[in-house]
Amino acid sequence: DDLAASEHGVIISRFGQHADVLGDDGYRTRCHIRRGVESLVCGDSVVWRRAKSPIAEQSVQGIVEAVHPRKSLLSRPDFYDGLKPVAANIDQIFIISSVLPAFSAQIIDRYLVACEDSEITPVIVLNKADLMNELEPEQQAEITTTLAMYEDIGYRVMKVSAHTKTGMSELTEALSERVSVVVGQSGVGKSSLVNSLLPEIEADIGAISDNSGLGQHTTTVATWYDLADSNIGLTGALIDSPGIREFALWHLERDRVAWCYRDFRPFLGQCKFRDCKHRDDPGCALQEAVNSGDLHALRLYNFHRIVESMQTQKPPRMTNK
Ligand code: GDP
Ligand code: ZN
Repeated sequence: DDLAASEHGVIISRFGQHADVLGDDGYRTRCHIRRGVESLVCGDSVVWRRAKSPIAEQSVQGIVEAVHPRKSLLSRPDFYDGLKPVAANIDQIFIISSVLPAFSAQIIDRYLVACEDSEITPVIVLNKADLMNELEPEQQAEITTTLAMYEDIGYRVMKVSAHTKTGMSELTEALSERVSVVVGQSGVGKSSLVNSLLPEIEADIGAISDNSGLGQHTTTVATWYDLADSNIGLTGALIDSPGIREFALWHLERDRVAWCYRDFRPFLGQCKFRDCKHRDDPGCALQEAVNSGDLHALRLYNFHRIVESMQTQKPPRMTNK
């Protein structure tokens, strides 16, 4: 037929029935998506074939024929569509927090639960470290203690400043050879960090929406930025979009939230009652662990706040399409 031999590639951007594929040669090719592989998202590892002569329509030059099984899938709750898959095969999620707007362990915990639920490694980043000495000593101590708690649990923690560049080389190294995503609340400095790591990215987002002819819609689609394209001398990739930065905690059952607290795991199943709510229930192994200093009280406290918020907040409507 009129297609060349199969090649391997990665989906760098997906829009409707088309996708841009990054081939092993480092070039992008716009492809049609064959029936049966419609669920493709950014980051998917695919088999595709180049057209021997360009397919005229929308400069399509190849066809995606198959997708490899995913290592991980990141989804975003959508009020109308339930869970929307946004990116595949992500190795790590940088949870960006900051000194100002106020540092919140509860928000970090929510992102951590979402990461654990997706089985993607989180890295906790405190940005705006340069503003630390503008805080009262008690507030500084609280941040330091909380970050030490996360390290104690086994999470990697970094303190950086997009302004003074403190800690930026450590952050750059952590990006190497992995596929990463950056998440965090508005105002914590995600754009500032991404721009200072990869100055080309912001320009790139504009360029994609300009020549796709599909308008600004494409800017909300997750896009793959290959670090080999930047001049920081690394391999790996950053998958980014406004939508992905809003990645949030989905509605989960209490038992699942408890499992997503990785420091709770040794104690789960040890409570006296099988339906233990881990509050003031007699024989609660989690409460006992807090009392004996084997578990951080703040984590159990935040766990309850998350479970409560899930009981009051209605899950988005699921559609059966
Ligand atoms: P985003 O909403 O998470 O993308 O945050 P932005 O990157 O837009 O940053 C929000 C504000 O914080 C901007 O005014 C930035 O200049 C500021 N900002 C970002 N990083 C730093 C930092 O390391 N130190 C200080 N002092 N301000 C920062
Ligand atoms: Zn219990």
